[in-house]
Amino acid sequence: MGKHIIDITLSETKKQKPLSDQLEFGRVFTDHMFIADYTEGQGWSGHRIVPYAPIALDPAATVFHYGQSVFEGMKAYMGKDGKVLLFRPEENMRRMNQSCDRLCMPQFTEQSAIEALEELLVIDKEWIPTEEGTSLYIRPYMIATEPYLGVAPSKKYQFTIILSPVGSYYKEGIHPVKILVEDEYVRAVAGGTGMAKTAGNYASGLRAQEIADRKGYSQVLWLDGVERKYIEEVGSMNVFFKINGEVITPVLNGSILEGITRKSIIQLLKHWDIPVIERKISVEEIYEAHRAGTLEEAFGTGTAAVVSPIGELNWRDEQLVVNNGDIGSLSEKLYNELTGIQYGKIVDPFSWVVEVVEPAKA
Ligand code: PMP
Repeated sequence: MGKHIIDITLSETKKQKPLSDQLEFGRVFTDHMFIADYTEGQGWSGHRIVPYAPIALDPAATVFHYGQSVFEGMKAYMGKDGKVLLFRPEENMRRMNQSCDRLCMPQFTEQSAIEALEELLVIDKEWIPTEEGTSLYIRPYMIATEPYLGVAPSKKYQFTIILSPVGSYYKEGIHPVKILVEDEYVRAVAGGTGMAKTAGNYASGLRAQEIADRKGYSQVLWLDGVERKYIEEVGSMNVFFKINGEVITPVLNGSILEGITRKSIIQLLKHWDIPVIERKISVEEIYEAHRAGTLEEAFGTGTAAVVSPIGELNWRDEQLVVNNGDIGSLSEKLYNELTGIQYGKIVDPFSWVVEVVEPAKA
């Protein structure tokens, strides 16, 4: 397949960039965005970088009615000497294509997506914040655009990449979070769309998140949709427990998202010869381990926070304080190692980091 030429229209005005210490998550967007359009039978066309602006869609576009929508979340980091770094971008684009497959949406090749992203990053490079812990959040997404009210896969799609500068997740330093174990609502079931990064999964999680917020918990821990017994994942993170020297994370079962941070943490632990196992784990087992004094640490993993120590769980009004509410030494070591690799501060033995270079002009 030939390489698509990306048509570039630069913005005539440049927006004011927020100060690094005032950055919030996902509220401010850069000057440009990448867009391409798909029509069944013709494939992708119209690859373009244009000024960031609202898009016009037909009110009957499938995405509004039946939710064919997938997205990704990744970051660009400003490394030493002005080098722009990406962390395992091919993994995100591979996962996006898996999500597309589940939602009957077309593939956008990993290579074309990364090329488009790199070109966009070169143009909006000045938007990558440079303060410690800050980064440029990248949101690639695909939506169904055919104006048609029949319940069927759309024949038209749009793939877009937008960028948003984000502040350090831990402004006051890394600190443990409180998590509410959700006993009533479920996020996904095996055979559903839990393994896909699709909009509907997040819409259906809002009610439980709202309840958790009200009770003073920062996120929800989802249990399996059949027995409400086995641990799945936390709102936007996968989850790990260290029990008796062994690190345990729920096995990929079709209803949880295959996190790229999760995968990297497993690889790091193996590299360090720390026992790590992917298996079913019940919430009861966590409480039992705590009673027996063998629950050492718990932490969530995801692109936003990287590693988020869990200081407290609440399941059916029974509170469990992990590691006296302190950061566990393994959580801290994993956080330092992974962020060190992402920002190019320490050696990357896995070749995870990709440096963005200006595309050669023909
Ligand atoms: N689970 C869910 C539901 C998520 O939204 C995310 C964030 N993408 C994760 C886990 C963590 O995935 P990653 O490490 O790839 O960010």
